[in-house]
Amino acid sequence: MSKNYYEILGVDRRASQEEIKKAFRKLAHKYHPDKPGGDDKKFKEVNEAYSVLSDEKKRQQYDTFGSAGASGGGGFSGADFGGFDFSGFGGASSFGGADFGGFDFSDIFSSFGGGAEHRRRGEDMEVELKISFKESIFGTEKNFKIKKNSLCSLCGGSGAEKDSKFKTCPTCGGSGLTEEIRQTILGTVRSQKTCPDCHGKGQIPEKKCSRCGGSGVEYREEEIAIRIPPGVESGNRLRVRGKGQAVEGGESGDLYVYLLVEKGDNFEKVGNDLYTKLEIPLTTAVLGGKEKLKTVDGEITIKIPAGSDSEKVLKVKNQGVVISGKKRGDLYVRLKVKIPKKLGSEEKKLFEELKELGI
Ligand SMILES: [Zn+2]
Ligand SMILES: [Zn+2]
Repeated sequence: MSKNYYEILGVDRRASQEEIKKAFRKLAHKYHPDKPGGDDKKFKEVNEAYSVLSDEKKRQQYDTFGSAGASGGGGFSGADFGGFDFSGFGGASSFGGADFGGFDFSDIFSSFGGGAEHRRRGEDMEVELKISFKESIFGTEKNFKIKKNSLCSLCGGSGAEKDSKFKTCPTCGGSGLTEEIRQTILGTVRSQKTCPDCHGKGQIPEKKCSRCGGSGVEYREEEIAIRIPPGVESGNRLRVRGKGQAVEGGESGDLYVYLLVEKGDNFEKVGNDLYTKLEIPLTTAVLGGKEKLKTVDGEITIKIPAGSDSEKVLKVKNQGVVISGKKRGDLYVRLKVKIPKKLGSEEKKLFEELKELGI
């Protein structure tokens, strides 16, 4: 998971598909095991990196989660960090059973197919989550609680009392399916349905869970753990797979976390770079010198070159948004020269002397 595919291919995080392809070809040639000096391990690595980065969807997922797999999330209890979804809710419906004018083909198909039934799926949910500007730069881990239909906290969704054995479901005799006879425009259709009692499992607990009554689902407050990748912006949406509404005998929906990033104190984010302003004394502007600068990491000292005008922009490398590992964007500092508004007699005299010198 810690593999850096960009480093493996030697390309920038913002590299175009063309650049990625080019880098891959070059390295694949170089490391090809059939070639003298080839390297099987490196060759495989390069292939792996390319297979992810050349696929925009996988790349996006990798960029945000550091993994292209559908189930990452090492170290998080139960949470499965799936895709990173920038889009709306368009395709998130629970099942695509096409309905042609009131005639449901899926019923007929399921009767042919020996009972391949669409599984129930809980509804997706959306929550808003506020994070600080700094958290958006470095990425963060957040825990929050939401009330929803969750898997039962006692049985974990199995519906069985602790240590209870399972027995064959008496309703379906263990097949997980029950037959339904329906009249359709094609005549009588016998279709198989998922057994309503065991939800297709064919087994039911001997003793039902005392907390959820056997449904495996409980309306309760659930703690959600989410890892927010660096570089996110307001409006980005993260998906936490399986943390939407739980449903009896089916798969839980997904939870979408809509991010709201607070405004940065004196910082603006443009892509991976940050912009800030710094007021400097007139003397530093003229003579040059060192000035303290607040960055998102803390305070640093930067060198101001002699003869710096207001509006001059200095670049501080590697103090921007975290891109990957130690790789970061840059910080741009726009200078503003402070012109003294009130002068003591001594100061006034010195300025007048400068004036006489023609400065
Ligand atoms: Zn339970
Ligand atoms: Zn059953």
